Amino acid sequence: MIGITTTIPVEIVFAAGQKPIDLNNLFITSSSPADLINQAELSGFAPSICSWIKGIYSTVINHDIKKVIAVTGGDCSNTIAMSELLENKGVEIIPFQYPFERKRESLLFQMDKLRERLNTTWMAIEETKNRLARIRKKLRKIDELTYRENIVTGLENHLFMVSSSDFNGDPEAFDHNLDQFLIEISQRTPFKENVRLGYLGVPPIFNQFYEFIESKGSRIVFNEVQRQFSLPFDHHDIIDLYLAYTYPYGIHGRIQDIKKAVRERELDGLIHYTQTFCFRQLYDILLKEKLGIPILTLEGDRPGCIDGRTGLRIETFIEMLSS
Ligand code: SF4
Repeated sequence: MIGITTTIPVEIVFAAGQKPIDLNNLFITSSSPADLINQAELSGFAPSICSWIKGIYSTVINHDIKKVIAVTGGDCSNTIAMSELLENKGVEIIPFQYPFERKRESLLFQMDKLRERLNTTWMAIEETKNRLARIRKKLRKIDELTYRENIVTGLENHLFMVSSSDFNGDPEAFDHNLDQFLIEISQRTPFKENVRLGYLGVPPIFNQFYEFIESKGSRIVFNEVQRQFSLPFDHHDIIDLYLAYTYPYGIHGRIQDIKKAVRERELDGLIHYTQTFCFRQLYDILLKEKLGIPILTLEGDRPGCIDGRTGLRIETFIEMLSS
């Protein structure tokens, strides 16, 4: 089992015969994510460090994960120091960097370094890519069923997309779940909400977030970053596939992707989720300036249900959009 700190070219890990586990998902789906944060704070992490970093750290320790692929470029600068702490505890750290410049040769270089470190071949990676491409195609189908046929909830969409960073460590079982889900929803009556929303930013740390929005007569039909984790692109070449992935590069690629979704999915408004103490909060300025659609910015810190104030702000935003 190899922990991963965010989406990486998992094809390389599977091709090497290893099982990738997205540490974010393992943390947030644990029986008590809040305890994992407390545990990290007791180990010396300051309250002003992002909860995801603290949660990931404790998750690695508690699960006794021996190897972690740490994304040291294109994700979060906190990952670098956290990895050094883990290394100090005996965890093998394998760094992976998305290049600052979105250039083919730079990404190829980084992916080849990972391939070499995991001791696999490009031929095995290509085979794995083709195998995963079939699953990625089904994820696109689920996304289309969310905004075209309107038979998938925002939460269901979120869960499938966010899990595609590691396919829950078992692509075959993941594929089977997808097939089951597609059968289950085939007879559903389409949802008819008053307000169609898009969700921007890192996945929410809140519980009951999607359910709350749906209880107010709205539905999230676009999960921006989670959808990017599923690599919803047509490219046959694996380097092109990971070059098209917007999240690790500058904001402009994300803005183009969001604009397209706003048009295609007929969105009435957007919710931009920001994590307390995260540098990505700064992007809120550009998103509001460039997107030309109502945006509600929310901030979350610790896991748990959405607080009353956040709930009221969401409700007011939905009311405003529906009037
Ligand atoms: S939410 Fe921001 S600060 Fe926290 S781990 Fe993600 S990128 Fe880093």
